[in-house]
Amino acid sequence: MTLPQTVAFSRNSANVFFHILTQCNLKCRHCYINPQQHGQNTLPLSSIVGWLEAFSQNSQTKNLIFLGGEPTLHPDLPAAIRHARRLGFGSITVDTNGYLFHDILDKIDPGEVDVFSFSLDGATRATNDRIRGDGSFDTCVAGIRKAVAKGFDTSLIYTASRANLKELEEMAPLLMNLGIGRFFIQIIGLRGRSACQESETASEGILQIDRRQWLDTVPRIARRIAESGITVSYPKVFLNPDEEFECAGRVADNYFIFPNGRVYRCPLCEDYPIHSLDFKENQLVPAARLNESDFFQLNIPEGCVMNKLIQPQNLSYRKDGTAEYKIACCLLKEEVKPA
Ligand code: SF4
Ligand code: SF4
Repeated sequence: MTLPQTVAFSRNSANVFFHILTQCNLKCRHCYINPQQHGQNTLPLSSIVGWLEAFSQNSQTKNLIFLGGEPTLHPDLPAAIRHARRLGFGSITVDTNGYLFHDILDKIDPGEVDVFSFSLDGATRATNDRIRGDGSFDTCVAGIRKAVAKGFDTSLIYTASRANLKELEEMAPLLMNLGIGRFFIQIIGLRGRSACQESETASEGILQIDRRQWLDTVPRIARRIAESGITVSYPKVFLNPDEEFECAGRVADNYFIFPNGRVYRCPLCEDYPIHSLDFKENQLVPAARLNESDFFQLNIPEGCVMNKLIQPQNLSYRKDGTAEYKIACCLLKEEVKPA
């Protein structure tokens, strides 16, 4: 059986996460979209085209991911995908909650999109719908089946929290049954809606998973799912003592674009107006300092600076005050491939 491998940050490729709108038909408990920070507008096609063109240099080395809100709510998504294809992006992914609005699967060919990435947060209707809303399990499963039947490559994202960790193990048969090619496990973080919920309902609403639960559960289940022939990725979260800490903001090339023109290099910064770049008249320009790029330069014994600032409960200290372990960059992944 293959063991998990840490996926090193690439210095030679970039990931462009493009939120073309923030509107969504669902209200998932852990949604990280924050309309106060990301706006509520739907980006017109002319801006989508202009902003894609700002990333068109060496586009074959760039992975483009269309997101929302729910990106299929955007009526011009097919035109945006085709324009990105013409510009030569290395890969094009559409992240969707599975509702697949505007008959997107009938307007796009499998040759135009590399992957449709779906989201489910439970192996059962009851658990998923408690987190993502009534009817979302059945709709998403039907969407996956339609995409697979039409010949699209598919992946699935599962945001693990205390509300659904117990069902992670049950995902293997469902993934096999649906014909999913790749499985991404995410860890819930204190961003967007979940940050508000956790502070409001501290006693029973805590969704975050602690270190012991994560380490005892996720790597083991990921290996088991990989044995069924599916590649599994999950965030590393905790570094071993001998592992070096690296901040993706310093050593990798990731862009998180929002429809109000803010561009972040780190997803943990997205609840704050500390983005490092702005789109102004279709040009990418540096944002005012101080901003997230100043945080990336700070070296602390606990690893990720933003984690210490926004979710310090993930840390633990010895009696002498030294950090027991480091928190990895949230973008550092482990991958388990089928043997
Ligand atoms: S589907 Fe995505 S964007 Fe919509 S509410 Fe859920 S997490 Fe948020
Ligand atoms: S999550 Fe932490 S380590 Fe990763 S880019 Fe952001 S600040 Fe840097």
